This record gives sequence, structure tokens and C-alpha cells, in this order.
Amino acid sequence: MDTRQTLRAHCARHLDTLRAEGRYRDFARLEKLADRFPVYRWHQPGAGPGEGREIVVWSSNDYLGMGSHPAVREAAAGAAALHGAGAGGTRNISGTSPLHTGLEAELADWHGKPAALLFGSGYMANQAALSTLLTALPGMEVFSDAMNHASMIDGMRRSGAKRHIWRHNDLAHLEELLRAADPASPKVIAFESVYSMEGDIAPLHDLCDLAQKYGAITYLDEVHAVGLYGPQGAGIAERDGASHRIDMIEGTLSKGIGVYGGYIAGETDWVDYIRSVAGGLIFTTALPPTVLAATLASIRQIRQDAPLRARMAGRAAALKAALDAAGLPRLPSESHIVPIPVPGADRCRAVARRLLEEHGLYVTPINYPTVPRGTERLRLCATPFHTDAMIADLVAALRAVLSVAEAA
Ligand SMILES: *Cc1c(COP(=O)(O)O)cnc(C)c1O
Repeated sequence: MDTRQTLRAHCARHLDTLRAEGRYRDFARLEKLADRFPVYRWHQPGAGPGEGREIVVWSSNDYLGMGSHPAVREAAAGAAALHGAGAGGTRNISGTSPLHTGLEAELADWHGKPAALLFGSGYMANQAALSTLLTALPGMEVFSDAMNHASMIDGMRRSGAKRHIWRHNDLAHLEELLRAADPASPKVIAFESVYSMEGDIAPLHDLCDLAQKYGAITYLDEVHAVGLYGPQGAGIAERDGASHRIDMIEGTLSKGIGVYGGYIAGETDWVDYIRSVAGGLIFTTALPPTVLAATLASIRQIRQDAPLRARMAGRAAALKAALDAAGLPRLPSESHIVPIPVPGADRCRAVARRLLEEHGLYVTPINYPTVPRGTERLRLCATPFHTDAMIADLVAALRAVLSVAEAA
């Protein structure tokens, strides 16, 4: 077998399939302008340096614009000046600084948990924590919401634990599966709070009731909620007064917090166990000082900035109202995430391209495998910095693009 030749043919064939199905991913080159968020400069294919066109981004996960907050930028610059750019080692090999332990203490306190642990990203946190927890005891079984994120699925699969998948947010189905399982097996129930592709929110107390009834522990991904919900922005568990009932909370530093990295928070011995055995923590370089200092500044700001959260909620409500008034379809989101159904991968992609090229608006088309085929959508997020004028422009553009696409 000529491996090189065969591999080349495989890759080319796969890419052709993606293109034919309208699922080939082009990454638009978007230059963030910190002083003008959510205005970016779009570097079109073939554009030379400095030739970017100004556009408005409607699909940033920097939900609060914290990545551009003056205190956060200052903290990053200050840390670079004091400590340099990189951590220089894994946590075990000279890579743990007071910034790491300080941020972990802040995260634990924020979530009302005794301990927290940083990871290279939210993906790594889910993968490492779930695969480690689920192999801790023999015969562990995991119950997983059908819409859980790829990083959770990766961690659960790696563990080899028996996995039961319940229909999204369908607690009757979850209970059916729990009831049918071996009462003697150790169990983990894994779910998210805000689901990123639907914008709906899990009933945390009901999930905890079931966990209690069947002797399971709870693992909650709060990635799309940290910074955004609750009196101090710690997430839906804080908002619902459920933090003490959740055994392990996982979050990202990259979305509402606006910087980079991931973490878990929970019981001291569990967190220490994961710290001691998870390959995804042990064999990778620690987060750099710029990221840690910026994150700490961001969280401290967020915790006391309820008005910022209120502004974000107000903007999301204004966006939903404007879409409804214009007769544009949207999924019934309970959160800041506003999905607009545009079924068909080709059509969804074409609509997004026209929004960008003809209207200067960047909106990400969401296709399979992120969502099931036939449920393709545009995913919008209003930040506190999206103005009424920006909302009006978006609605006018969507109307134009969707009705033309409809007639075609
Ligand atoms: C984005 C995301 C992650 C991963 O977080 P990163 O820090 O971006 O790696 C985990 N869970 C969910 C639900 C996500 O949407």
C-alpha cells in the first residue's frame, strides 16, 4: 500500500464531500478592534494587509465584550511587562505561579466551591475531568443530555464508561433511564445550563432532585452562563440557588469572561484527584501570565457589575423584539442566544455569505454535525455593545436576504 497516495486521495475525497454538502468550513479573517467592539475589520480572500472592510460581528462568544474592557487589557499588558509572555512549563515543572493559585481561589469562591482547577481550555477541562471521574470507580455509568457539547462527549467516550443519552431536557426520559440502570452502579449525570445552539436552559433543581433520588452525582457545564447570569455572574446555578447541589461545575474563561482557558470547581478531594491523575492537565503547559492576570481582572469586574449583565439582557430582549416585529423566525430561546432557523446547509451558508458581503454583517452559519441536518441556523448573540441602530441594520438585512432566498 502506498500510504501517502491513499491518504492524499482520502483527504481530497472527504473535502470534496464537505464542499458538495455546503459544509466546508471557511474561516473568515476578522480583525478585532478593541476600542470599537463589536466592529471588526474583515479581511476578504485576496485582500492585502490594511485592506480590511469594517463590519459588525453578531456571533461573538465574548458575550459581555470583556475581552476589550480597559481593566482587562491593562492587566494583560501589565503581566506581560512583569512576568513575560509564557508560563515556561507545565503546572508541575515550574509552571505554577501565584497568578494560577490566585485565580483558582477566585474561581472556587465565585462558584461557592472549596476548590477549583485551571485547564488549557474549556474543552480540555471537560475532556480531562469527565474521563478521569468516570474511570475513578469500577462500573461507573454516565447519563448525558443529547445536546451536550463535543468536549463532554469526548471525555465520556474516552472513559469507556457506559453512557446513557436522554432526550434533550426531557427529565421523564432521564428518569426512565436511571430507573432501568443497576441501582448498585456509581452514576454521574452530565448536562449544561444554557445550551449554546438552542439558547434554552436546563431545570437544574429538577435534575438535582433526580440525582439525589438515584444516588448520582451532578456534573454541570456552565460555559455559556458564566459571567452572564446570577447576582455575581457565576452562572445559572447561582441564579437558581442550586450551586450547593451541583457536585462539579465546569466553565470557560473564553466566552463571557472574554479571555482564554477553562476550569472545574468542586469538592477538594475530587479536584485534587483530577489534578493528580488527569493527563490533560499534567502533560501540558500552564496558562500564561497575561491570560491569568486578564482573567482575574475580568472576573473581579464581572462579579460586581450587575448593570453590565442587565444591559446584555436588555440588548438580547431588544434583538428578539425587533426580529419578532419584523416577522422573522427564531427559535424560542430563554437566554442571550438567538438562533434563526435557515434549514439546508447550502442555504444557511449562502445567507451568511450574503449578510457579510452585501450588508457587512458577520453571522456564523451553524451546520451539521454541530446541529442535526435540516435544523441549520444562524446563531446571533447581542452584547451590551450592540446598539439600536445595529439591531435595525441587522433586521433589515435579514429581511432582505431571507425573503430573496425564500423566493429563489
Ligand atoms: C465552547 C464550549 C466549551 C469549550 O470551551 P473552550 O474554552 O472554548 O474550549 C465547552 N462546553 C461548551 C458547552 C461550549 O460551548
